[in-house]
Amino acid sequence: MSRTIRIEKKILEANNIIAERNRKRFAEEGIMVVNIMSSPGSGKTTLLEKSIALLSDRINIGVIEGDIATDKDAVRVEEAGAKWVTQINTGGTCHLEAGMIEQAMEDMPKGLDLLIIENIGNLICPVGMDLGEEIKIMLSSITEGMDKPKKYPGIYRACKVLVVNKVDLAPMVDVDPDALVTESLEVNPQLKVFKTSARTGEGVDDWCEWLLSISKKG
Ligand code: MG
Ligand code: ZN
Repeated sequence: MSRTIRIEKKILEANNIIAERNRKRFAEEGIMVVNIMSSPGSGKTTLLEKSIALLSDRINIGVIEGDIATDKDAVRVEEAGAKWVTQINTGGTCHLEAGMIEQAMEDMPKGLDLLIIENIGNLICPVGMDLGEEIKIMLSSITEGMDKPKKYPGIYRACKVLVVNKVDLAPMVDVDPDALVTESLEVNPQLKVFKTSARTGEGVDDWCEWLLSISKKG
């Protein structure tokens, strides 16, 4: 075994220990935690803004925003009505780690029903990093084309839920959202699928109903 592989294994093991600690805390406090992953620019923050605006008078939503540099996304979800928002700036690291979440939770208030973690836009390394979440969600925009599920099968297999976003742009980009769903299901037949346009609001109600149903109050 090469030295590099052993180091990587050690990092993952250390991460998993902290992830279990996070998971225990989430269970004790009765918070449902989801980890949303995608490519950059697939519309994670826009979908969160729309969802939080629809749900914030029914459940208490917290958000941990992962970003390489700015706090732009945190400001947006806060304005949408999230009860608690923390920004993690990874300073160049292209994924979130369990220790970053643990640190972010230092000032997390009691009484949240749903904690949404927006991961760094990246289809590869966030997949292997357990954060202690209960559900991994993949957001895939139709503007990314048809080949992502087969090119990045790891992330599609790790996720329980797939949101196909920007469906309103289908005529412009010549990608059929249903065909993209079929491609994705070929990689992971267990995926629960939503089709949305965060911009127009299409499909966002169904997605929000589901978020409500998994949150501890739902
Ligand atoms: Mg974002
Ligand atoms: Zn990374």
